[in-house]
Amino acid sequence: MSNDDKTTINDSFLINLLYSRNFMAKVQLYFEIFRLFLEKCYLCRQIAKQGKRQLSGARFSHSNHNIGIMLLEKIETLLKEVSGLTAANAEEIEQFRLKYLSKKGEINALMADFRNVAAEEKKTVGIKINQLKQTAIARINELREQLEEAEATGDDIDLTRTSYPIQLGTRHPLTIVTNDIIDIFSRMGFVLADGPEIDDDKHVFTMLNFAADHPARDMQDTFFIEQSDPNDVTKNILLRSHTSDDQAHYMECHHPPFRILCPGRVYRNEAISARAHCFFHQVEGLYVDKNVSFTDLKQVLLTFAREMFGPDTKIRLRPSYFPFTEPSAEMDISCHICGGEGCGFCKHTGWVEILGCGMVDPNVLEACGIDSSVYTGYAFGMGVERITNLKYRVSDLRMFSENDTQFLREFESAR
Ligand SMILES: [Zn+2]
Repeated sequence: MSNDDKTTINDSFLINLLYSRNFMAKVQLYFEIFRLFLEKCYLCRQIAKQGKRQLSGARFSHSNHNIGIMLLEKIETLLKEVSGLTAANAEEIEQFRLKYLSKKGEINALMADFRNVAAEEKKTVGIKINQLKQTAIARINELREQLEEAEATGDDIDLTRTSYPIQLGTRHPLTIVTNDIIDIFSRMGFVLADGPEIDDDKHVFTMLNFAADHPARDMQDTFFIEQSDPNDVTKNILLRSHTSDDQAHYMECHHPPFRILCPGRVYRNEAISARAHCFFHQVEGLYVDKNVSFTDLKQVLLTFAREMFGPDTKIRLRPSYFPFTEPSAEMDISCHICGGEGCGFCKHTGWVEILGCGMVDPNVLEACGIDSSVYTGYAFGMGVERITNLKYRVSDLRMFSENDTQFLREFESAR
């Protein structure tokens, strides 16, 4: 008999029952009511399942005492079931919630039967039902947390999957060029000398033949940190405007002969534009020995230019002025874009300026404790940004300090 065929106790059923004159029909209807009652009764079904053992030979009755025992047994079974629940996904957890905690769930069914439990057993059974409910809630919450945790920590990591690409950094173009310059001069016997970026006036200016009131100081206006005596410029603490202070420090405590190279950051009080910045980088060189001549300087610089810009590079020296060298010169190289023919890059002159140089002024040697009647020397200095611009044609000086990774990645293949 399918569900649809079953008789239901509704109004027409009761009317039929009360007003029917057919005795057999009445018997049949009473029988039907009894059958429905048996079918609906949860306890009857349980007892039928468990057989006669529970009945202990006695005639089965719906005593309240038996209801209590049956409920306790049922609760124990459910407790074991609930405690051992496992779920692989959220859907399974929801199924558990519906099965145990929903309106039509197992626990609510127990609550309905609880009404029929004997008064003296209500407390025990009530506590047990409550315990079952709390266990079910706790276990379902626990399963949810475990699932969330597994999702968050990625416990299901696929170890065979290819990894994310690691973005490797590149050397900064200024570092690349500084290293190139150091490499070339190292092969000619120059060693590195380091010095402070914050220095005193004595080493930055005074020892290098800048008189206190000399206008040459204006060429290298920098940032002053401390002026202990406003009337005495030699007592100022400042950011160095060139790496020549390294040379002064080195000469103070070394005896010639020496060849040194001083790379580093320097500062100038200048408005920031595409062609000027308040800080930039220099590499300066110094050679002091007996009988050092301008010819030595020229040959060293020619070698450098050819190593840096190619073997066909020519140089020319133009007279210039620096306080610390005498005579002084600016050095140009033949334009490596047009080969000296003339182009927009070299302003159609065929030459581009790259550095300043000269023979060390005897006053500088004397100020550093070196006998200028015995020793002579030459010095040169170049801007790393300038050389980098010539080599890689970077049009705007500011790009070197903007940390634009797209720009910096352009130099990935340089080194
Ligand atoms: Zn050119």
